[in-house]
Amino acid sequence: MDLYEHQGKELFRRHGIPVSEGRVATTPQEARSAADSIGDEVVVKAQVLTGGRGKAGGIRLADSPEEAREHAEAILGMDINGHVVRRLWIEQASDIGKEYYLSVTFDRGEKKPLFMLTTEGGVDIEEVAERNAEAIARLHVDPLVGFQPYQGRLLLFGAGIADPSEQKQIMAILEKLYEAFVAEDAMLCEINPLIVEPQGRIKALDSKFTVDDNALYRHHDIAEMRDLEAVPAEERAAREKGVTYVKLDGEVGILGNGAGLVMSTLDVIAQAGGRPANFCDLGGGGDAEGVVDALEVITADPQVRAILFNIFGGITRCDEVARGILAALGRLEIGVPIVVRLDGTNAEEGRQLLTEAAAGNLHVEETMLSAARRAVELAGGEA
Ligand code: GDP
Ligand code: MN
Repeated sequence: MDLYEHQGKELFRRHGIPVSEGRVATTPQEARSAADSIGDEVVVKAQVLTGGRGKAGGIRLADSPEEAREHAEAILGMDINGHVVRRLWIEQASDIGKEYYLSVTFDRGEKKPLFMLTTEGGVDIEEVAERNAEAIARLHVDPLVGFQPYQGRLLLFGAGIADPSEQKQIMAILEKLYEAFVAEDAMLCEINPLIVEPQGRIKALDSKFTVDDNALYRHHDIAEMRDLEAVPAEERAAREKGVTYVKLDGEVGILGNGAGLVMSTLDVIAQAGGRPANFCDLGGGGDAEGVVDALEVITADPQVRAILFNIFGGITRCDEVARGILAALGRLEIGVPIVVRLDGTNAEEGRQLLTEAAAGNLHVEETMLSAARRAVELAGGEA
């Protein structure tokens, strides 16, 4: 789960990393009163889950509350890399002496958190990595040992930070950032830029904070930060119903049981000349409740023109899934054709149940490939 800048900064603040005071605003009027209560020069910042806001004009300095209101009016509704701005962060403006870059992320290859620090901040780190890779100090932390002070010194010297006051402040920030990374089950904590003010004080001017979705059950405060409006309706419904759902951009909706089977179903749809619109993983379940939930989610996607059910019965019995499908069809009004392929435990009985029901838009196929071809054809593809 990606957090907005202001949410990441709130976590930074809780872990003792210096950030500026600020307020959230969703209207120009709120921006005005936020600036008024901060009572100083402010910066009006678009809150969108993408980078490069500065370049896109989504970050502007304001000298007065009235100017903050004007900037808010200009930034709200702006489209930044496909993200519409609905929320602003109004923050006390900082004077910038220098812009550094600091992050901790997961290096999956090494199976360890990786720190990166460079004095070339304020620009894309990828750009620095390409132009001047030596400028970036990199260091892995052994998760069992934890972050050690000598590693902080290695990073500081590696990045060429020689000023004793800067060293001391960044050392403290490194320790706190690692603490935050571990405590919040983060995948990424990035500060770009980490600024040095002209008087020498260091603080986080931006935040990119990503938390592991699988750990959200133990971070209710973070789970609640999710902006439901930024999520499409069917993804919201899937999350509420506890259905695994992924949106894609084709026309065949896919329902399977088990991640591996669902992945191969995507491939077979492609082989048949079609494109998946989305997929749902029923997991182990195939009861009516689960099928109704998944069908509701899948059909909420207006791009779906046919649905492919691909079920392999192991512990799940195909006759039960078939009853689930029939019960679901009894409860839901489904306007698109449904192709069902059942194999494995009690497949025969399952297929028979479906065939006997003889619902008009239900098609039963025996193999995965024939089912995929049928679904693609019914969706108007080129099989
Ligand atoms: P990003 O473009 O999405 O990464 O957004 P940032 O929060 O990193 O801001 C982009 C740039 O705007 C920074 O690198 C700064 O140069 C500038 N900026 C942001 N906040 C302030 C501020 O308080 N004062 C000044 N002078 N510039 C700022
Ligand atoms: Mn930034």
